[in-house]
Amino acid sequence: MSLINKEVSLRPAFWNNSKRYYDLKSFWRNSFGCKVYKLPIDAGFTCPNRNGQVATGGCIYCDGRGSKLRQVGPLPSVTEQIAKGKAYYTTHRQAGKFIAYFQTFTNTYGELEHLQGLYDEALASPDVLGLSIGTRPDCLPATVLDLLEKQAKTHHVWLELGLQSIHDRTMTFLNRGHSREAFIDAVGRIQGRGILLCVHIIVGLPGETRQDIVETARVLAGLPIQGIKMHALLALRGTALGNMYEDGAITLISKEEYVTTVCDILEILPPELVIQRLTADGYKDIFLGPAWAVNKMDVLNNIDGELKRRQTWQGCRYVKEGKGP
Ligand code: SF4
Repeated sequence: MSLINKEVSLRPAFWNNSKRYYDLKSFWRNSFGCKVYKLPIDAGFTCPNRNGQVATGGCIYCDGRGSKLRQVGPLPSVTEQIAKGKAYYTTHRQAGKFIAYFQTFTNTYGELEHLQGLYDEALASPDVLGLSIGTRPDCLPATVLDLLEKQAKTHHVWLELGLQSIHDRTMTFLNRGHSREAFIDAVGRIQGRGILLCVHIIVGLPGETRQDIVETARVLAGLPIQGIKMHALLALRGTALGNMYEDGAITLISKEEYVTTVCDILEILPPELVIQRLTADGYKDIFLGPAWAVNKMDVLNNIDGELKRRQTWQGCRYVKEGKGP
């Protein structure tokens, strides 16, 4: 067997794809047998890290304007937002099923009845398989988890937790308003409820070395999580971080450093962890950098190319229980 064939055969067969990591598209296809798309929803939430309950000002990289929809006028209902998204993805991407993605700000920050009404409204839309709910580790009371656990018995339910870094000193710098301990506590309280958990991390945070972000990934590799999203730190005009960048107080990660760091991370993550995202860009009107991040396809191609050059893939250096190689 040639080296290349041997290497390909070592990649997990259950991915059922030709990639070197378990991407979200493949996960959906394997789970539901069709193309599934997430429909982003702005349900009008705010964030306790912005309104003073936890802190004010929000995370230093966060654009406080919310979704584009919110910027142009009164928000359409959840049903209307889903209908519009479905029409687009059905026409342009031949999507078959959908996940309602409560994306903007903290989507568990509200009265239980209000949350239930919004989630139920989304699940009542035809072809919506389930929910993906973006929130913070410190905004998940037991009542909300009980509600999601109940919904997860009949639907596909994800929680998406912002973390960005496992290091308390970085969280403080970012004004995250919660600690590593709060995140670990949330993961423990979500576990065993049938709710899938996706964690967001940022590569290229000021003050962090490559070893620091790889350590974040190593900790996540040892926790009961099912998905991860990562992207490079973006500087947006009008944010505290954007100001630091414009003042020359911080620099942003290069494409080469980002690509090689992401590959280091992928290699130590469990092979079954779903890679939900490896790129991001910001709204064009306030985007400051890094310029290379705008070309998402190029970034993905570079990651694929680097893994191929290394002859490695997601999980090839994963060691169970997060102990690492
Ligand atoms: S927790 Fe999320 S929504 Fe809240 S300030 Fe931070 S990035 Fe923005």
